[in-house]
Amino acid sequence: ERQGGIPKAPMNSESKIRKVIGVVSGKGGVGKSSVTSMLAVAASHLGKQVAVMDADITGPSIPKAFGITDKAMGNDEIILPQATKGGIKTMSINLLLENETDPVVWRGPVLSNVIQQFWSNVVWGDIDVMFVDMPPGTGDVALTVYQTLPVDGIVIVTSPQELVGMIVEKAYKMAEMMNVPVLGIVENMSYFRCPDCGSEHAIFGESHVEEVAASYGIKNIAKLPIDPALAAACDNGTIEDYRTDAMDRLADALIR
Ligand code: ADP
Repeated sequence: ERQGGIPKAPMNSESKIRKVIGVVSGKGGVGKSSVTSMLAVAASHLGKQVAVMDADITGPSIPKAFGITDKAMGNDEIILPQATKGGIKTMSINLLLENETDPVVWRGPVLSNVIQQFWSNVVWGDIDVMFVDMPPGTGDVALTVYQTLPVDGIVIVTSPQELVGMIVEKAYKMAEMMNVPVLGIVENMSYFRCPDCGSEHAIFGESHVEEVAASYGIKNIAKLPIDPALAAACDNGTIEDYRTDAMDRLADALIR
């Protein structure tokens, strides 16, 4: 199958990946990696064989969220993914770089190669659903992911502030241009529930996710509150212990 005129990268002969879901955002820092991780955990609890590809090469955060510190093993031809405690298979540039704190300063074509290798050279095995933590934005590297991987659908992660602007519209239109359906939208940091009185506060402005989803015909909506426990789980590498009904429901709707 071709998209944008470029043939998709071949899958490793040892692997079978049935579904690929990209997680995208308009800009960095809205919680794309956190949502990717939570969806993977939820899918795994539904009994699926799950993989996470960290295609956010210049801002990789998947290994940290899952507390993976061992490097990936491999050679020029094959790379073995690292499994999380719960058995989710992951690949990230941070599993290959000797020093995680070195900045990745590669140009577009090199980033493209890495994403291609993550698909073709990693021995993923038998996978029901792979979640791809996509590069933020609608630029060169995001385009490469769409062109390289057979993305079945995407989930857009956004904040209440972004929803009112053009950022979500751009992400939506890019998917449309690539013939990829938008399966769901997550409004992250949607509200804060006061731990003392229980009242909800719209810290980043009122929610518009329902209207926006309706205007694009996106069926699945999830709202996540600002939760210091989520930030802590990502920092401590314990995202597998953090569960929310909203993410469980969304994962169920995505892979059913
Ligand atoms: P992105 O992948 O979009 O750059 P991340 O998922 O890495 O964003 O999240 C950025 C930071 O914000 C992380 O430290 C993460 O733990 C934190 N974070 C994300 N979502 C929430 C939330 N709902 N509540 C509290 N902290 C959050």
